[in-house]
Amino acid sequence: MRVLQLGSTGTDVMEIQALLKKIGYDPGPIDGIFGEQTRQAVINFQRDNNLVPDGIIGPNTYKKLNPLLLGYDTYYVQPGDTLWRIAQKYYTTLNRLLTANPGIDPYQLRIGQKLIVPFGIDVVDTNIDYTYEIMERDITGLKKRYPFIEVGVAGQSVLGRNLYYLKLGNGPNEVFYNGGIHALEWLPVPVLMRWIENFALAYSEGRSILGYDVRDIWNRSTIYIIPMINPDGIDLVLNGLQPDNPYYDELLQWNDTGEPFSQVWNANIRGVDLNHNYDALWYEYQELAEELGYGDPGPTRYPGPFPESEPETTAVVEFIQNHNFRLIIAYHSQGQVIYWDFENMAPPIAREIGEMFADVSGYELAETVGTASYSGMKDWFIQEYRKPGYTIETGIGENPLPISQIPMIYENNEELLLLAAVV
Ligand SMILES: [Zn+2]
Repeated sequence: MRVLQLGSTGTDVMEIQALLKKIGYDPGPIDGIFGEQTRQAVINFQRDNNLVPDGIIGPNTYKKLNPLLLGYDTYYVQPGDTLWRIAQKYYTTLNRLLTANPGIDPYQLRIGQKLIVPFGIDVVDTNIDYTYEIMERDITGLKKRYPFIEVGVAGQSVLGRNLYYLKLGNGPNEVFYNGGIHALEWLPVPVLMRWIENFALAYSEGRSILGYDVRDIWNRSTIYIIPMINPDGIDLVLNGLQPDNPYYDELLQWNDTGEPFSQVWNANIRGVDLNHNYDALWYEYQELAEELGYGDPGPTRYPGPFPESEPETTAVVEFIQNHNFRLIIAYHSQGQVIYWDFENMAPPIAREIGEMFADVSGYELAETVGTASYSGMKDWFIQEYRKPGYTIETGIGENPLPISQIPMIYENNEELLLLAAVV
């Protein structure tokens, strides 16, 4: 973590601002700019935590902020402690404490015993630029708070970032949701992460969400989620082109739009469009792409040198091959549309389920046309398995969509994600 102070800008500033706001210190607008109001919020936080109130986030202040970013603290039981007292001290609930420490006996605490203490706040923020680093930390925090979530790695990106998957449930009905395929279209990433958090909390409390019995879903189904399939591209969009990027010179050439990466880049870090890299009419698409001027690496629509040329694609292909998915959903933006077919290969039930999805989301059910209709993830899945596969376009307007749409996208898709696990 670099030192943050007046004048600092970036996604890390934004993350700290969101945290300060969440814990009751008003940093002003959550805009990634460390201004006077953010400095004052940091000073107030420092005063309350016996830190030197200099308004600068250096190692000591960061050490206090880090557990809050993770959403939990590590605590060693002291003489006279009870779980109730610890819960009070951390503004959290007994249920959260018990969930994070499975097998613990509340009446037999030992002095010095190590506990994971989840704070009362949510982990996943839906009001910030949601970078790979933030997602990675949130996954760590969620796993500690809800040890029943299984976390794994499906593969690596070109630059070696992990393609994390999270697994919810233990039932025989396997489904697969994913997002963050196109770099500009990262808004569904925090939506999926927040949905995981809410689902895990409801499961731990034995609650329903929108009338869906979460424990029942848990027993009937297993939900696999890869929230971010293109971490390198999303990093480029949110953090900009860094000098140490091994494709630095190439990327400057490949982006021939005259626009910054944050406005145009949808591909992975080698300029390959990850939703045109699957072996489903790939050669037909490639011819078309050449004609339309997408025959070389670039911000969008270049299908790569051959089908499944990219590690992000092969990771997904292998992940799907190693499971028995009843259906898959790939989240994109924009347009509030659900695409469900590929070359008339989808089974009749796929349309029926698609209509139910349209119903609960308010999105329109549609068939892909033109260049969008070849060599995508759902195309390949439908072609290989003849099972329901969907591309869901979320949000309204033109990419990149504003962060302010994340809550709406969540609302549109909360029930759809529950329904897809049991339909
Ligand atoms: Zn897309």
